[in-house]
Amino acid sequence: MKVLDLQCAHQHTFEGWFGSDQELSDQMERGLLVCPFCGDGHIRKMPSAPRLNLQGSRETRAHPDGGVSQGGEPAPDDPAANASRALQAQWVQAMRQVIAETEDVGDRFAQEARAIHQGDANPRAIRGQASKQETLALLEEGIGVVPLPALPWLKETLQ
Ligand SMILES: [Zn+2]
Repeated sequence: MKVLDLQCAHQHTFEGWFGSDQELSDQMERGLLVCPFCGDGHIRKMPSAPRLNLQGSRETRAHPDGGVSQGGEPAPDDPAANASRALQAQWVQAMRQVIAETEDVGDRFAQEARAIHQGDANPRAIRGQASKQETLALLEEGIGVVPLPALPWLKETLQ
């Protein structure tokens, strides 16, 4: 599982979880990736910057000639990074919303998604577990599936 930093055209930064880089490009090509904050479909992959601790970066700032900020990647304490942390919190909120507004169908996800798509079940938002094969099969049938990261703590907070 890969955690990639993604950004929409409105500079919203969020994390996407993928099996591989290839899976990311596939989803991008199919237009399946949308910003969880504004629904924008123009998603790009951010350069994955190593996460430095704040203490270290403050020391870095004290020596501006050190040259460590070369390469165009944002320093962890710059406004963009702070905004990204704020968005991270918003993202957690968004995830809670998703969980609150969807029905957990567990491992029957693929079955249910197909039934809803074919009109055999009540149209509703569902979430659950699906294997990678099941997910790919659904996508090939034109059924929209958004991969959610497994966040056990999120569930605990809600229950
Ligand atoms: Zn956005």
